[in-house]
Amino acid sequence: MHHMTLAEIARGLADKKFSSEELTKALLARITQLDPQLNSFISLTEELALSQAKAADARRANGESGALLGAPIAHKDLFCTQGIRTSCGSKMLDNFKAPYDATVVAKLAAAGTVTLGKTNMDEFAMGSANESSHYGPVKNPWNLEHVPGGSSGGSAAAVAARLLPAATATDTGGSIRQPAAFTNLTGLKPTYGRVSRWGMIAYASSLDQGGPLARTAEDCAILLQGMAGFDPNDSTSIDEPVPDYSASLNGSLQGLRIGVPKEYFSAGLDPRIAELVHNSVKALEKLGAVIKEISLPNMQHAIPAYYVIAPAEASSNLSRFDGVRFGYRCENPENLVDLYKRSRGEGFGAEVQRRIMVGAYALSAGYYDAYYLKAQKIRRLVKNDFMAAFNEVDIILGPTTPNPAWKLGAKNSDPVAEYLEDVYTITANLAGLPGLSMPAGFVDGLPVGVQLLAPYFQEGRLLNVAHQYQLNTDWHTRTPTGF
Ligand code: GLN
Repeated sequence: MHHMTLAEIARGLADKKFSSEELTKALLARITQLDPQLNSFISLTEELALSQAKAADARRANGESGALLGAPIAHKDLFCTQGIRTSCGSKMLDNFKAPYDATVVAKLAAAGTVTLGKTNMDEFAMGSANESSHYGPVKNPWNLEHVPGGSSGGSAAAVAARLLPAATATDTGGSIRQPAAFTNLTGLKPTYGRVSRWGMIAYASSLDQGGPLARTAEDCAILLQGMAGFDPNDSTSIDEPVPDYSASLNGSLQGLRIGVPKEYFSAGLDPRIAELVHNSVKALEKLGAVIKEISLPNMQHAIPAYYVIAPAEASSNLSRFDGVRFGYRCENPENLVDLYKRSRGEGFGAEVQRRIMVGAYALSAGYYDAYYLKAQKIRRLVKNDFMAAFNEVDIILGPTTPNPAWKLGAKNSDPVAEYLEDVYTITANLAGLPGLSMPAGFVDGLPVGVQLLAPYFQEGRLLNVAHQYQLNTDWHTRTPTGF
């Protein structure tokens, strides 16, 4: 049962081959048995799952249908879930039970999904390895000594290990696409504003975007359908009709113009990954796509700009966790200042504290122009590069990451080395563009992803290309040994 995709589950439920309750029980048992090796869940929600599964079965018995009706999923633990712990991977929110559901959670519940639990993540979504979680690191099911990527490492490891078919995730600088690449999944970061951020605990508000993590493009289409749409509660949500994503999967790729940026193939890229990227280009050429070399000249400035803008927004967003309004409170404070200092010092981990300090510095009166304003100007240049490129091509293709998943602990002493691994993903967040990572092969037994980027609101085009690629390759069907 656990090998089924969302699409297969929907067919099985419609054909009455099994009930959602049976499937939910089987997956919960599998999580209990196998997750101790991975640590991909922070909370399991068995009671909620069983009641949602029974309700979905009853709705089907009454003649209702729907691709997500009775489908088991999990939510990254930064989506607020009413009455259920929403920790954001932090000691700061270890005992926080959200008083309401995030829009994404509410929409998916209304579509009939079954929530199995809340998945592990880097603390406040800051990281690329899922090692900064208060609840301990997540292991990569392809090799338990390696990281699964981050910050949505729990969602990725759980789906890759077949503990469930799909999960929600968020992407501020790559946190859907990079863990997808590291664990052989398909992950989609939608256009900024496509998926509501209401009830999604903020890291960097101008970059954060929720999206699906699944094994196939077909499943990403199904899950995105349930997540996307205008939300009056999110002032940055965009009132643009949501197309039928599943209907977009079967378009022909004949004549599709794919741009491959020459800057992507610099010295930092593992040559074995470069070769797999070229193989994927050849496979798409066979399907009728036309390949064109393009240039994104400002790409090399994107990492420094991102690592000023994201911490700056984080320092502001995280000021609410002061032990008074929100979050952990220290024992026996001597006075108000001591309460703030110790609550934040004890409640936040090292990486979060580092980013708050960097961000507060970049926003301070004497340095605002030199850092924050400069970074915003680079952001515009990065966006302009993409706009120019999309005048010539329909899709941009390249590696998702410069290297495969590294060993646990390998980058702990050097945060900048970890930041540099985000080089291919963060530009899409700076520009607000949609991006998708899909499985494209293996290096030393570890999965490698290829990234596709498209113009605003062209999620359907990304899913179409990835689905056609997956009809003609079998990388996405490979399963990690032991799972
Ligand atoms: N690795 C990036 C960071 O640490 C991106 C994380 C994310 O997308 N949430 O900021």
